[in-house]
Amino acid sequence: EQILGVSYDFTRIHQLEKMQKDFVGNVSHELKTPITSLIGFTETLLDGAKDDPETLTTFLEIMQKEAQRLESLTQEIIQLSKGTEMVYDEEEIQLRPFFNQLIAGYRRIIQEKNLSLILEGPNDVVFQTKMELFYPVIKNLIENAIHYSIPNGKILIHYTNQNGLLIAIQDFGIGISQSDLERIFERFYRVDKARTRNTGGSGIGLAIVKDYVERLGGTIQVESHLGIGTTFTIHLPNLEGTH
Ligand code: ADP
Repeated sequence: EQILGVSYDFTRIHQLEKMQKDFVGNVSHELKTPITSLIGFTETLLDGAKDDPETLTTFLEIMQKEAQRLESLTQEIIQLSKGTEMVYDEEEIQLRPFFNQLIAGYRRIIQEKNLSLILEGPNDVVFQTKMELFYPVIKNLIENAIHYSIPNGKILIHYTNQNGLLIAIQDFGIGISQSDLERIFERFYRVDKARTRNTGGSGIGLAIVKDYVERLGGTIQVESHLGIGTTFTIHLPNLEGTH
């Protein structure tokens, strides 16, 4: 369904996303090696190797090198993350075709789970924003709503533009407990690994969502109840001079 004949090109954003994921993957791997080594040497020392002064010195020297490596790696990561503060162009997005196009990408899984996805909002809403930040936010929230929905469930996407853009994404899925709710925006936080989907998830999605929403000057709220469902609500202000 392509209302107004508008079609967006998401390939550039998909490439950016892949680069970020690769980066996180590489970084985690690089960090793991010295940490594993530090844990190994500490355990061996505590198991008795510390009683031999020569072994003790050799091990401590290795551990010092590993710790120094960790320090410089962390330094590099901080540098790199500063470097990714890119300047993105603003563009005018027509919300309905944007949502329709995004949702179309999930048609298969929506059919498989027999979900009914309802888009509620005026046909003519346009919003000026930075697509590179806006798109991943919506994509992550919709993906989660689909993944954490129960079969035959319903997902409501509601949007309005009155004094800024308001988007609510509501699912009637597994829900999140009140204690987990406080932590879901943390990097790498995942609710009980056995309960959540076992493929694809890294626990980084919502941390990115929150970061991007804030970079757009907006806010995000979540309301959820176990076994009932979850609603994420984002509010984005109109960018300077565009209203
Ligand atoms: P993940 O890649 O694990 O989905 P996210 O950062 O996107 O990582 O989400 C963090 C955790 O929050 C998830 O592991 C999941 O347990 C929970 N969560 C996120 N969205 C929903 C939702 N719509 N319904 C239920 N739980 C959710």
